[in-house]
Amino acid sequence: MSDHPSLTELDAALPFVDRHIGLRPADVEAMLSRLGFASLDALMEAAVPGGIRAGAELELPPAQTEDAVARELRAIAAENTPGEPMIGLGYHATITPPVIRRNVLEDPSWYTAYTPYQPEISQGRLEALINFQTVIGDLTGLPTANASLLDEGTAAAEAMTLVRRANRKATGPFVVDSDALPQTIEVVRTRAAAMGIDVVVADLADGLPDGEVCGVLLQYPGASGRVLDPRELAEDVSARGGMLVVAADLLALTLLEAPGALGADVVVGSSQRFGVPLFYGGPHAGYMAVAAGLERHLPGRLVGVSVDAEGRPAYRLALQTREQHIRRDKATSNICTAQVLLAVVASMYAVYHGPEGLRAIAARTHRYAAVLAAALRDAGVEVAHEKFFDTLTVRVPGRADEVVAAAHALGVQLRPVDADTVGISTSEATTRETLGRVLRAFGVDGVDLDAVDQATGDGLPDELRRTTPYLTHEVFTSHHSETQMLRYLRRLSARDYALDRGMIPLGSCTMKLNATTEMEPVSLPGFADLHPFAPAEDAAGYRRLVDQLEGWLAEVTGYDRVSIQPNAGSQGELAGLLAIRGYHRANGDLARDVCLIPSSAHGTNAASAVMAGMRVVVVKAADDGAVDLDDLRAQCEKHADALAAIMVTYPSTHGAYEDTITELCRIVHDHGGQVYVDGANLNALLGFAKPGEFGGDVSHLNLHKTFCIPHGGGGPGVGPVAVREHLAPYLPSHGMHPEADRREGIGPISAAPYGSAGILPISWAYIRLMGGAGLTRATAAAVLSANYVAARLGEHFPVLYRGHGGLVAHECILDVRGLTKDTGVTVDDVAKRLIDYGFHAPTMSFPVAGTLMVEPTESEDLAEIDRFCDAMIAIKAEVDRVAAGEWSAEESPLRGAPHTTRALAGEWDRAYDRDLAVFPTGPDPDKYWPPVARIDQAYGDRNLVCACPPLEAFAEQS
Ligand SMILES: *Cc1c(COP(=O)(O)O)cnc(C)c1O
Repeated sequence: MSDHPSLTELDAALPFVDRHIGLRPADVEAMLSRLGFASLDALMEAAVPGGIRAGAELELPPAQTEDAVARELRAIAAENTPGEPMIGLGYHATITPPVIRRNVLEDPSWYTAYTPYQPEISQGRLEALINFQTVIGDLTGLPTANASLLDEGTAAAEAMTLVRRANRKATGPFVVDSDALPQTIEVVRTRAAAMGIDVVVADLADGLPDGEVCGVLLQYPGASGRVLDPRELAEDVSARGGMLVVAADLLALTLLEAPGALGADVVVGSSQRFGVPLFYGGPHAGYMAVAAGLERHLPGRLVGVSVDAEGRPAYRLALQTREQHIRRDKATSNICTAQVLLAVVASMYAVYHGPEGLRAIAARTHRYAAVLAAALRDAGVEVAHEKFFDTLTVRVPGRADEVVAAAHALGVQLRPVDADTVGISTSEATTRETLGRVLRAFGVDGVDLDAVDQATGDGLPDELRRTTPYLTHEVFTSHHSETQMLRYLRRLSARDYALDRGMIPLGSCTMKLNATTEMEPVSLPGFADLHPFAPAEDAAGYRRLVDQLEGWLAEVTGYDRVSIQPNAGSQGELAGLLAIRGYHRANGDLARDVCLIPSSAHGTNAASAVMAGMRVVVVKAADDGAVDLDDLRAQCEKHADALAAIMVTYPSTHGAYEDTITELCRIVHDHGGQVYVDGANLNALLGFAKPGEFGGDVSHLNLHKTFCIPHGGGGPGVGPVAVREHLAPYLPSHGMHPEADRREGIGPISAAPYGSAGILPISWAYIRLMGGAGLTRATAAAVLSANYVAARLGEHFPVLYRGHGGLVAHECILDVRGLTKDTGVTVDDVAKRLIDYGFHAPTMSFPVAGTLMVEPTESEDLAEIDRFCDAMIAIKAEVDRVAAGEWSAEESPLRGAPHTTRALAGEWDRAYDRDLAVFPTGPDPDKYWPPVARIDQAYGDRNLVCACPPLEAFAEQS
């Protein structure tokens, strides 16, 4: 007998699951006893309907320690060989300034923030985003840009639908430049096919094809490097009643004239090469800018300027009530999660380098291309275009593969175009040494690059040299030393409330821990620096990571196949619906186009259905919030021959486990429809039930909710789509997929074969760290915490819906409507007052207007959950004082909230005292101070300003 614990016991003594889950054993016991359950098992037994319970435990590899997972991921990253990517096609090597990498990309004060729906506590990232919009607006030469799209391919597809909407009279096809990026052409085609839009691909160097057009997409510069002058085309398109979309390279625009000045109506593209790592294809921020008159058609989010209650300018999301997904089937796009974190990085790259620095980077990039072209020509090698920015098309009859292979052996990745042609793109990372290797691959040796440089003119087209100014705002010339930059980043992030400050109890958004061990691998060069079209042999690590992750996600959802290509939940929805569409069509069921959607569904559901070419039919909710099965039966009967699918969220968006889900699935299947289970709420199911087993045919998951990818202030995300076997043939494909058998199919849903590959290590690490038992325990802890909140706060606010066993799932809805009716205090007032108490508001008015939806998640500890409950109860007591007539709603601290440091000094003329205003729970040295007071939403929409306001705007007021 040994008198000490064994090595095995000690190895298991500090499991990651205890870092991830906030509740200690004593907390769990206290919470269970408050709810009247003897154990977590008993709680889950009572909460989850027996009919959907999974038969067996999750079959996943056993949990590993943080150290072991970190080592394993370093080994996987080392299986990737980034080399020197010169493949181009919209993805370029770039240098992320370390001050930005460490203090934005790797800094939780930026990456754990939520979408800026509560603008008073989001001023830092809103300023960064308005900088982004200003960069895009200036460089494209158009007045209004949005705060990012998902990638260049989808931005082009969004531009196509924008042109059609804004221009209803134009009936002709959408014409796409044959020199557009190949993946852009494919993404546009996938979208167009579903929506019945005619796409024609043509060589625009020959002018427009005859006949009407609704719009034209020109790549500027083209994939081949060619630079077409858009002016004539713009006139021709407009004469035929269409609109011109230009897909432009941002770095090229620092030297080439802005498309907006040459007649473009819409400009789209990617901001990747502004300091965002290649990430094997994503995440990167796509962009879109539009001409005057089109701003209300813009998809995605738009940051604007308004004023706060103290008269200061303040940022907020403009036209927010029109936010795409909130408009459901009237939406112009389904985009919800975008690419905020990456847009922040790109904007800071522009702030740090300024207009002069960017011009120098572009000039250097161009110069390397010009010198390379001249050196090749000197050696008798044919280079196709006289004029170019950074990309050369080189003719080597019959020798392309040989040259590409020779370059590869020297560590450089070139682009094989066809048997006779090689593509080469220079970048910020190109050096003389790189050129030497490229030349050697062509069999050219001993070139004196300086001599060539001396003897070679510029390759930029003279008639397109940039004359319009850009980045003239002070912000782009004020932070060029590293000290200034560091302080600017810190100043902005300090204005924001993110998970590094406290709980963000947002229902439906699952703001849980994003563990450092999960985040660190994102920066490993093996993951960060790989080009998405690198040869498959250079991406063995990613291949392994993706295969394992897809397999694990299939296991936890009960589906047969998974694709991680969609780069947001919305895109997973579209992919899933396109799979359903493909299946029906393959069966000859061309008329099946009705998509049933319950009234409580997330707005992206309806918007995605429209994009998949379906008709949305709303199914009513019963009094208990569940789908009304009588209405469902009636709708199924009515649309029997046309029924394509139902989209249903489980547990419902009401946060309740409904008993009727299996019956619902049966009814829809009996009528020939497919069941789409929106898996955004998987955090309530993992380990206990599998949508693929209880009746779903297809689901999307949000890795940026359940699987720990941080929210990034509104993106990035990953929305894998999971299907049963019969839908597998209709999963997204990609013409340049590293696996040959996934090149043919319904087409890509995102520009890169693996979407936002660069952040997959986060979810991979989470599953590896937790194991099946850990994930299951996390679910139970999340459900326990939500029920604890419902029990404590249920005594003060009605809890709107409860499900099976009178319990809620992982979130609960607090009904404020009665209080509003009795006192005039609104859900907004409660949300803003929570800021004074040091909290981010819960989800407001979704899925029910006038309510708050709270999701504590498993990562919060009991003290923080209690602090939140105490704050809500104290706020209720303040509402009671309004009810008792002590203050009017207008004069109350609720309407006065949030209070800034201005409340501390000077006159005080409010009906309540200062201390109550700013220290409602007593003096607090760690208090979070909002930088602005309540923001006037209506003012900002009446006076739309979506670029950096002049500094005087701030000076005047203070
Ligand atoms: C978050 C969410 C979505 C959309 O996901 P995005 O990644 O933001 O596009 C869809 N459905 C539900 C229920 C959600 O909570």
